[in-house]
Amino acid sequence: MQRRRLLDRVKKLVVKIGTASLSNAQGGLDEEQVSRLAEQVLGLRGRGIMTAVVSSGAIGAGMNALGLKERPRGTPELQACAAIGQGRLIALYEKCFRKSGAHAAQVLLTRDDVHDRRRYLNAVNCFTTLTAYGAVPIINENDTVSVEEIDLTFGDNDRLAALVTSLAGADMLVLLTDVEGLYENPDAPPEERRVVPLISRVDETVRRMVSGRRSRGGTGGMNSKLEAAGIAAASGAATIIAGARTPNVLARIFDGEPLGTLVLPTRDRPESRKRWMRFGSRPAGTLVVDAGARLALCEGGKSLLPSGVRDARGHFQAGALVSICDEQDTEIARGIVNYSADDVRRIRGLKTSAVRKLVGAGATDEVVHRDHLVLND
Ligand code: GLU
Repeated sequence: MQRRRLLDRVKKLVVKIGTASLSNAQGGLDEEQVSRLAEQVLGLRGRGIMTAVVSSGAIGAGMNALGLKERPRGTPELQACAAIGQGRLIALYEKCFRKSGAHAAQVLLTRDDVHDRRRYLNAVNCFTTLTAYGAVPIINENDTVSVEEIDLTFGDNDRLAALVTSLAGADMLVLLTDVEGLYENPDAPPEERRVVPLISRVDETVRRMVSGRRSRGGTGGMNSKLEAAGIAAASGAATIIAGARTPNVLARIFDGEPLGTLVLPTRDRPESRKRWMRFGSRPAGTLVVDAGARLALCEGGKSLLPSGVRDARGHFQAGALVSICDEQDTEIARGIVNYSADDVRRIRGLKTSAVRKLVGAGATDEVVHRDHLVLND
């Protein structure tokens, strides 16, 4: 019932497909698989659903072109493979979409493109225009210039897909992979494995079910899928983790077949600026707050006052976006700060009256106003 309700409201969808699901047994790009994906994505248009695809596979295609059997370890080698493979990848998408009269539009993003609010807004506007032209964005990380993604386990395309879902305000993320969903018993023989149909919240119990396995050829694994689902959930979007090779998987999901693992959103979609603050931005510094302030922010819906601030870390100006951490160094929120780092250090711990006396005219009572603050889950 819940699933049906969520599916019915999907207008904007992000589908991510991993390297293993796009490759054939020889490690080359699987043309039939890309073709089926293209057909399915275009089929969803008939249901009023616009899709952006986040596609891995560039490095794998590059390796295949070069005849490399082992995935290289060095960053320059990985970047070179990505540069060689990305062209092949997008050429295949274009070929497959052209058959049905649509275009594949290559979008390569780096982290900086989402950290910088103007660049991020440009990217979102571009998606809208692409959709209006009837083109399907095929998104990948710009591997040749971004070192992080390739090096870090959690900086992968699952995460990129979740960020795109969040920042573009999509209603749902579908992660297509080489397994049928999150397994209750991943170590059982294949025919006995049971897929967990529903996850209400990605918490410790759920994370514990996941072993650290990675998928063939790609960088992800179930850990990063759950992290991605958590980002989507906090952005008001549901996630379905399902098998990329399940015949007609997207149409069947939207027909209501209980395929894969559904992860529910944990809140209504926050406004665009707050989604960017939470997941797109890179904070310029940190405010450390005491237990009282933590409670006032998290439970009381209050602004952050100087009296609750223990410390300011980093160098930032008034108006910067900062991370707000408790005394255990756990981030609890992000917000736009009204004082520079130096000024916060002068007024931290002070009562409002003392701040007014110290700062004089122009003193703002809040270090971070509630309206410019977004809480973590
Ligand atoms: N961007 C990489 C590629 O296209 C894949 C990264 C990932 O699978 O997470 O090969």
